[in-house]
Amino acid sequence: MRKEWIDIIPQIANDFDSIHQIKCPNCGKNEMEYIYIGDKKTKIGYLQIWCNECLKGIYVSRAVAPQNARFVTYDDDLKNIVPKYEFIEG
Ligand SMILES: [Zn+2]
Repeated sequence: MRKEWIDIIPQIANDFDSIHQIKCPNCGKNEMEYIYIGDKKTKIGYLQIWCNECLKGIYVSRAVAPQNARFVTYDDDLKNIVPKYEFIEG
């Protein structure tokens, strides 16, 4: 359920380095990963959070990357950074 994923965003944003201690809302494994993708200057873009174990996750639009967050620009090759995962709906 998407709400459970939305609920972990503040936990992740609170301490990005601790994301590997957060359990996946879907499978319960500590295999979560995130990345902000956006404009180099404004850092406005979107946020992707996914689980490397079950390959499910979410996509959050209009997100601004905090200073200490993992961030790539639209120019980067996302195929090498973000695996193909299934977006959780509703
Ligand atoms: Zn999972």
